[in-house]
Amino acid sequence: MPATSKDYGVFEKHESGVRYYCRAYPALFERAAGTYLTDVDGRTWLDFLSGAGSLNYGHNHPALKDALCRYIAKDGVVSSLDLFTTAKRDFLQALNEIVLAPGGLFHRCQFCGPTGTNAVEAAVKLARKVTGRREVVAFTGSYHGMTAGSMALSDLLEDEYVTRDDVTIMPFDGTAGAVGDTGPLRRLLGDRGSGRTLPAAFIVEPVQGEGGVNAASRRWMEELSALAREMGALLIVDEIQSGCGRTGEFFAFQQYGIAPDLVCVSKSISGMGLPMSIVLIGPELDRWRPGEHSGTFRGFAYAFVTGAEALRFFWRKETFREEMTARSKQLGEALRSLASRYPGSIRTVRRTGLMAGIVTAGPAHAAAVRQGCWRRGLIVETCGRDGEVVKLLPPLTITRGEMAEGMDILDEVFGGRSEASASGRAGIGSMAETADGLAPEAAVRR
Ligand code: PMP
Repeated sequence: MPATSKDYGVFEKHESGVRYYCRAYPALFERAAGTYLTDVDGRTWLDFLSGAGSLNYGHNHPALKDALCRYIAKDGVVSSLDLFTTAKRDFLQALNEIVLAPGGLFHRCQFCGPTGTNAVEAAVKLARKVTGRREVVAFTGSYHGMTAGSMALSDLLEDEYVTRDDVTIMPFDGTAGAVGDTGPLRRLLGDRGSGRTLPAAFIVEPVQGEGGVNAASRRWMEELSALAREMGALLIVDEIQSGCGRTGEFFAFQQYGIAPDLVCVSKSISGMGLPMSIVLIGPELDRWRPGEHSGTFRGFAYAFVTGAEALRFFWRKETFREEMTARSKQLGEALRSLASRYPGSIRTVRRTGLMAGIVTAGPAHAAAVRQGCWRRGLIVETCGRDGEVVKLLPPLTITRGEMAEGMDILDEVFGGRSEASASGRAGIGSMAETADGLAPEAAVRR
């Protein structure tokens, strides 16, 4: 392995050029705890990327780590075939008792291949099977993953290899009319006739993550839900990024009072960044034949263990929600203050719970902010159609002090203050230090 974080030769020589996040954050990370990542040279970064939303409870939370260590120590089953295991039983029980039943949700759980995109593939496949129709409506600004079917549903992915057969991209809330108005959607769908020409499903992210932290309004989601019912189409809600507490409730759709037919869940559902993805299937819709969407990895036992523990450890405690609400409020206030102090560089700020976007002057500006933050010890991501939005996904477990530290760094960066005045984390590597520094904006968006 390279001796220091500046030696990336092994990656450049042996890893495919498709690698992506490492290009924006060039360090050789070695350890991680809570809100911090540390590299081989002992330099630390405050992590507001949270594994692209897969680490909602931070890195290596002691409760989750202990549960996993105990399971490994007792020779718990590791196989990911869909056998009955105690690990899967405990996860299903915890999900039902702590999240689904209290939310009035009677969905069944389908364990998919371990990444989010496989849950999307499964949901769309099931919707087509159940309705006997082909077409799926997705929305402008959407991102649903990088397998062929999910790519076709992702408006953000414009690629020569994407064929949008049986997919129609329609305007997301507020993009072709007033916020909350589904009129444009109804007009576009109006002359469809009936039966097989109607869509099998609508797939929507209640809060678009990669699209720029765009939250749908309550009215639009209610009307979309009603429209799907009128048309006999299923409503698929993609909670892969917005779920697991990121926007306040366990699922973002719970804030809208709607009942989706299918819910895609992944990223933070294992609690510790271990791969897992699920489709929650509404009552009456579980029409799969055995093995119809099957494979080798249909539930990683370690992910069940940490996922169940995360639900039990965090979601049974009122104090967890209270703390999260307090941090969301703190984040909101800090963002408002930033926006008012730097009106020339910040167009607007968006936030739902602990998912926030700072809309900057443009993609180059957002990339510069990301790099400025990186140099000062804060990891943030960019998103939006052109990468013009700085996205903040701090852990839900972040402390008041850590949040203040992160927001101070953003303040320094937007204020154009020099690194010398930064928070004592000066001297952190820049993109120029790696030959690998192809700006992610030049690459395909994820
Ligand atoms: N849907 C949404 C809303 C996402 O944010 C992502 C990942 N960014 C995906 C699907 C795809 O998940 P994965 O990368 O695990 O395939």
